[in-house]
Amino acid sequence: MCMFANDAKKPIALDIHEFVFHKLRLTENEVVSIQLELTKRRFYVKVREESKHKISQIKSINSGMYSFPYEDKTMTTIKVMEANGLGIRWVRVLYLPEEVENRVIQEALNACGEVLLVRDELWSNQYRYKVKNGIRNMKIELKRHIPSYIDVLGHQAVTLYEEQPRTCALCHSVEHFRSECPLRRRTSIPNPLEQVPGSYRSYAGAARGGEGPHTKDTERGEQAADRAGRPCGSR
Ligand SMILES: [Zn+2]
Repeated sequence: MCMFANDAKKPIALDIHEFVFHKLRLTENEVVSIQLELTKRRFYVKVREESKHKISQIKSINSGMYSFPYEDKTMTTIKVMEANGLGIRWVRVLYLPEEVENRVIQEALNACGEVLLVRDELWSNQYRYKVKNGIRNMKIELKRHIPSYIDVLGHQAVTLYEEQPRTCALCHSVEHFRSECPLRRRTSIPNPLEQVPGSYRSYAGAARGGEGPHTKDTERGEQAADRAGRPCGSR
């Protein structure tokens, strides 16, 4: 992150690109994104994983204080530091009823970062109805990652953004998904129907009649067939 003094003149995007090239000496291949937050007098330069080592080098030169030339040849000094947050992301929030207000979703996401802007996503021009599609787009200055599933007024919404660690729908763990969640095993109610296939196999064995080497087995099969034939719950 590169930060201007509060009283510094507002730079233009061109100045910032030139600064990244000439002062930070990062090539286009090393940079993932340059995001401007000029109302807050700062911008973010995201560096590729392979070039991360350059960050400490950039920070160490003159304690991260850099002269920043404007297009009109005037200068200011800016502070270059490592962003402690995760930068600014556009987060898509899906599966919430239209009636749930953006303000409420914003409140639900506040713990993960500051919501800067909220937009209703629309169907694109290729469709007949260029109306809202129900997905909310939230521009967030992320402090921590948002779980893949969040609760908003009792509705389970899905959140999506670039480089989001996918999390379990039940416990928000990054280690597994819902199908593997230990919470699911603990809380799941045994399904009586799950026992039917075993009984059915016994019934099939019994139906073959006399194929089993022992009469006892056949008897057991018949009992199983009897049980399987009863409606669920009656014993
Ligand atoms: Zn889980």
